[in-house]
Amino acid sequence: MKPNHHYQDVAETYLFSNIAKKVNAYLAENPEKSVLRLGIGDVTLPLAPAVIQAMHEAVDEMGKKETFKGYGPEQGYAFLRESIQAYYARRGVSLSTDEIFVSDGAKSDCGNILDLFATENSVLVPDPVYPVYVDTNVMAGRKISYMQATKENGFLPMPDPAVKADIIYLCSPNNPTGASYTKEQLKGWVDFALENNAVILYDAAYECFVTDGACRSIFEVDGARKCAIELCSFSKTAGFTGTRCGYTVVPEELVFDGMSLRKMWLRRQTTKFNGVSYIVQKGAAAVFSEAGEKQIQENLAYYRENAKLIATCMDECGIAYTGGKNSPYIWLQCPTGMTSWEFFDYLLKEIQVVGTPGSGFGKNGEGFFRLTAFGSRETTMEACRRIKALLKK
Ligand code: PLP
Repeated sequence: MKPNHHYQDVAETYLFSNIAKKVNAYLAENPEKSVLRLGIGDVTLPLAPAVIQAMHEAVDEMGKKETFKGYGPEQGYAFLRESIQAYYARRGVSLSTDEIFVSDGAKSDCGNILDLFATENSVLVPDPVYPVYVDTNVMAGRKISYMQATKENGFLPMPDPAVKADIIYLCSPNNPTGASYTKEQLKGWVDFALENNAVILYDAAYECFVTDGACRSIFEVDGARKCAIELCSFSKTAGFTGTRCGYTVVPEELVFDGMSLRKMWLRRQTTKFNGVSYIVQKGAAAVFSEAGEKQIQENLAYYRENAKLIATCMDECGIAYTGGKNSPYIWLQCPTGMTSWEFFDYLLKEIQVVGTPGSGFGKNGEGFFRLTAFGSRETTMEACRRIKALLKK
């Protein structure tokens, strides 16, 4: 047996373990200090009551012979796919339920979707970005080129005609920068993909945070159905990070070398995946009920208010940042030329505020830092108070 040697090419990710190590070491020396964590991108508010109620009802159904469910459809129950279809329709995007595939989250689909593509495809990934795109391709032995997301282009790189790409990753609103593409900008990417016979993998995991008219789905753009796959998730929309549910949209029009990607994905999923639990899918469908939608919006409003508090704090300190508007992330430039880890150490030592060093998301992340709005209001307010006391000139 020969193992997959490409696993040796995957960079070790020390980011979150290093953060935990540093925080633990600090607390061991300073047990009386209270550390405020605005680092990891996990939600903190509980599931909405409508979701809990639907899951309770589903559990009861599983306990009765007449309503018990065994294996479900690999692609997801029709009730959930129809709810997702209606969610898109409300935004003017028309999808067939055959094009919607329910999964246990966007991370799995980010990795699994690569089954559809030959190894020799060239891959274009923004730097900085959610590290899963790079690592899953490296594991599969693909070559990666990077598009530079910098302060100069507002962390929203546009196509470079000189760079060839078969698979293009776009993440908007972006993790970690919080920057989000407008419809016009995405049209530029769609046109580029169509000209180059490329496919766009569009990660819309944070679409629910968009408030200023930026695109929430790439399918809002003309032509996208011929070149894009969209990955989305209930994790950030409805607090499903621990409950696990997401979906991927693969349009009928995606045909390359006479092969339909939708049919391939269906074949892949029916072969390697046995669907998401009925109970979880019932909970996910409740997100789209009238009560569920209202409750979810209340939670999102809570996180948005946190984001606003952090953004205002940055304004008051004169620190440049992106995000915070269409995104739970505030991506800030470390003051006085500090590196990302220097700033991390500085905040931990001086005011016990923990964020995420930007360099963990790619080379262009060096000198930047990510704070998240997913903490409690109390933690966010206290962190802002401490940051202002330290950095306000
Ligand atoms: N895509 C992006 C950009 C993310 O930041 C995350 C999680 O943080 C995911 C996907 C993963 O989502 P899920 O919880 O659905 O696997």
